[in-house]
Amino acid sequence: MTDFIPVAQPTLLGNEKRYVSECLDTSWISSIGPFIDRFESEFAAVCELPHAISCSNGTVALHLALLGLDIGPGDEVLVPSLTYVASANAVRYCGAEPVFLDSHREHWNLDPSDVEAKITPRTKAIMAVHLYGKPAPMAEIGDIARRRGLWVVEDAAEAIGARYRGLPVGHWSDVTAFSFFGNKVITSGEGGMVVTADENRARRIRQLKGQGQDFERRYWFPVVGYNYRMTNIQAAMGVAQLEQLPSFLTARQEIEAWYLEELAGHPQLALQVAAPDEQRVCWLFSLVLRKADEARRDALMARLRSQGIDSRPFFYPCHVLPPYRSADSSCPHAEWLGARGLSLPTWIGLERRQIRRVCSALLSALDELPPAET
Ligand SMILES: *Cc1c(COP(=O)(O)O)cnc(C)c1O
Repeated sequence: MTDFIPVAQPTLLGNEKRYVSECLDTSWISSIGPFIDRFESEFAAVCELPHAISCSNGTVALHLALLGLDIGPGDEVLVPSLTYVASANAVRYCGAEPVFLDSHREHWNLDPSDVEAKITPRTKAIMAVHLYGKPAPMAEIGDIARRRGLWVVEDAAEAIGARYRGLPVGHWSDVTAFSFFGNKVITSGEGGMVVTADENRARRIRQLKGQGQDFERRYWFPVVGYNYRMTNIQAAMGVAQLEQLPSFLTARQEIEAWYLEELAGHPQLALQVAAPDEQRVCWLFSLVLRKADEARRDALMARLRSQGIDSRPFFYPCHVLPPYRSADSSCPHAEWLGARGLSLPTWIGLERRQIRRVCSALLSALDELPPAET
């Protein structure tokens, strides 16, 4: 029996246990405590930005980010269709509408050339998602946003540690959301962070996540807020994970290099490779089967699974999901990629020989399954 290779798993080899025990020993287990302040200031430093606000998960980080820009009923936010549903849901939580952007066929992130056509008088913001850890084309997105007077939000849930033109993700927008779910680059079990350079926006977001309470007057609530707080226990894990971030990034780079050695240049595979001015983080090593359809992709994944290898299909584009389906959404490249893409096991501790096993299983499955019409 060969070992089962999951698609993702957390690495908890640092001070996680020690710091969590410290919370239990000191009874600081709720949303006040030293690890919260430490996690926020250390995360802000990693982002090279002045303000980081912790919260309970990445989805509410996105909600808070949009609220921090005053997105509300009647507004539209441009969101790539090929993303995790939370990106779109956060827009709906504000009472606003996501308008979906098509993907770029080569880099899989939102296609800047699809933006202008989808701007209306109601459009307030563009949300850029760094899919699978690869930075979206932020320079182009920023140019359009400046010209058209739109806010920019980064959904950097999958891209902790990635850099674009020398600066960490989070620098290319007015406000950025991160996630620390168990399968992300660093984890606090569940958890999220909002970062921004703007002090007033940071204050507003901090107020909203704490039930809307006035900072100077306890139990005075000038606005309707939320309980979106992170616990000290989550933050304790976050601090321990953040200590390991540099080594995590190096390990992920090595995994990516191993995959590229095995798979780069294969005529049937399209890979998401970083441009020279990007430092992507290999959150999930992903590929697109050029000569496949959804059925062949799924058959290939089933073959891998029967050999003890887990993999993960791309997201269904949001514009085909029941809450967001509408007659006028057209994102053909997002649909093309969504049906043909899959992510391979990417986690720290994965060995060279395991990657060789994944790749040889993938390549023989490709040979055995007849190519589909494309
Ligand atoms: C994981 C993820 C989120 C949501 O984060 P949670 O912490 O799971 O709520 C949002 N957007 C993207 C692109 C993600 O991958």
